[in-house]
Amino acid sequence: MTRIKHLYLHVPFCSSICYYCDFCHRIFDEKLSERWLDRLEEEIRENCHGQYETIYIGGGTPTVLSYVQLESLLGLIAPYAKECIEYTIEVNPESLDEEKIRLFVQYGISRISMGVQSSDDAILRSIGRRHSFSDVKEKIRLLKKNGLENISVDLMYSLPGQDLDILEKSIDDVVKLEVPHISLYSLTIEENSVFGKKGISNLDEEIEEDMYELIGRKLKEKGYIHYEVSNYCLEGYHSRHNMGYWDYEDFLGVSLSASGKIGNNRYTNTRSFEKYLGGKDIRDENLYLENDEMEFEHIMMSLRTIYGLDIEAFNRKYHCDLLKKYHKGVSNPDIAVKEGRLICTNLEILNRILLDFMI
Ligand code: SF4
Repeated sequence: MTRIKHLYLHVPFCSSICYYCDFCHRIFDEKLSERWLDRLEEEIRENCHGQYETIYIGGGTPTVLSYVQLESLLGLIAPYAKECIEYTIEVNPESLDEEKIRLFVQYGISRISMGVQSSDDAILRSIGRRHSFSDVKEKIRLLKKNGLENISVDLMYSLPGQDLDILEKSIDDVVKLEVPHISLYSLTIEENSVFGKKGISNLDEEIEEDMYELIGRKLKEKGYIHYEVSNYCLEGYHSRHNMGYWDYEDFLGVSLSASGKIGNNRYTNTRSFEKYLGGKDIRDENLYLENDEMEFEHIMMSLRTIYGLDIEAFNRKYHCDLLKKYHKGVSNPDIAVKEGRLICTNLEILNRILLDFMI
């Protein structure tokens, strides 16, 4: 059996619900979170084995947990984190404090992913965020003071009320924070989010395209590498954990709503607390992927980064000849073959390019 190198753990609680969000989460509740931690311990014991190269604690909002709960959580993972080369936790500025930061350092967390979304306080309020941009600056200062310099910041664009000037200011403000990694996501209105229920619609596609172009231009000027469709980093700071997803490697997901992929199988855990806390069978979805499906997904994921896809490894894995089998896609003028790798040279239109790889 091949070794699974990547572990994802989902913390399903938040302090409040952002208006655009549809993830699996509940408002933090001390008692419920205690029961969740107990059940998680069992799940980890049953499913985690050996050492993981990368670990990612996401959510939800992991920092909404109390200090004591975070300590228990990190203690549960510690036996599997001894050889970890990248150990990330997501944080939100309003629930992060220096005590928790010291705990992260103590348990070997090496990377922080902070939900910032905008530097404009009015925009932050309008999307239901609880922090202000001055909170962000203060928490980044505290992280760096404690030696946690590998910080990624999430920003959003295409938000209601946001124009190019507001977005540009957010980018400038975030660049001044001197963080080595920035992720940018456009707003998607999910049916079950507050925005979806209120009938808020997306900005025009044209504005969204202008925003995407602005982000790329500004961040490249500042020395960031556009290494993945939505991600920018300074040299050497690409996310190792996410590279696992983009390289289509196997990964284990634990806790509510987490997904995993092991060989030809993909699963997703239940989103229901009742089922998770009570049941033995917590997997809501167990899919067997045919090789053809895996090949397409593999291409789709790998072309998202500037590093592209290792053609020989692909051929070995699926016993095929990629360049022949996907001749139409490979012939697309925005696809190149460089040093044995298949690369997309225009990430902005990747989705359109991928149509040529469908057979
Ligand atoms: S966006 Fe993040 S912080 Fe906001 S509700 Fe969703 S998971 Fe929680």
